[in-house]
Amino acid sequence: MTTWVGTSWKMNKTLDQAREYARTLAATDPGRWRGLQPFIIPPATALLAVNEVLGPRSPVLLGAQNAHWEDAGAWTGEVSVPQVADAGAQIVEIGHSERRQHFAETDETVNLKVAATLRHGLIPLVCVGEPADVFASGASVTYVRRQVRAALDAVRDPRAVLLAYEPIWAIGSRGRPAAPSDIGAVFAALHDDWGGAVRGILYGGSVDASNALSILGVDGVDGLFVGRAAWEVDGFIGLLDLVAGR
Ligand code: PEP
Repeated sequence: MTTWVGTSWKMNKTLDQAREYARTLAATDPGRWRGLQPFIIPPATALLAVNEVLGPRSPVLLGAQNAHWEDAGAWTGEVSVPQVADAGAQIVEIGHSERRQHFAETDETVNLKVAATLRHGLIPLVCVGEPADVFASGASVTYVRRQVRAALDAVRDPRAVLLAYEPIWAIGSRGRPAAPSDIGAVFAALHDDWGGAVRGILYGGSVDASNALSILGVDGVDGLFVGRAAWEVDGFIGLLDLVAGR
């Protein structure tokens, strides 16, 4: 069983910084990470540069943080799935809570983007997760199940899809790291609904070296989607080594 460990850099890093990160990663023996599938998701500006540094035989998959559902056209400021694929992306992150909150991403646009990503043979990494008030009311399972159903509506073959459960209250510098007991019910439900049907179900939200292994110990967690703790390459490599050595 493959364990996915990846990071999105969000809106961080210049080209020089991106290349330096990729160079360090490329110089590390991937034999250390047997059984793991590492991935990194740079900003769109750095995709090509990181792709060139990693090279065509890199075991590290590359992703884009977003892509439009149309292949081309009058969509100022957007990039399409064929464009990010052209720059080297194999994964498209879709529906991160920051995009839903600040950029009007909806269940409908998430669904359109999933379809476009699959149509072009890339891996959709679909982010779902409930806000704090929903968690407090005990309705997390219902909320997240509905988000995933909407994201995968009319998807006939979800085998390429990665899901990332990222409770909004656990994400970012103002987030509260989740305890394994906080997330077990959602993973049990997602596993019931989608286990075996999708490629993997990941957890994200304030993951670092102190909690990575206990989160991976939760039934149904197939990997980790990491933000801040992997923005420096040593943090990412440290997490990969930690998970590989468990
Ligand atoms: C995220 O925003 O998806 C995320 C996982 O961030 P962090 O690990 O920094 O909480």
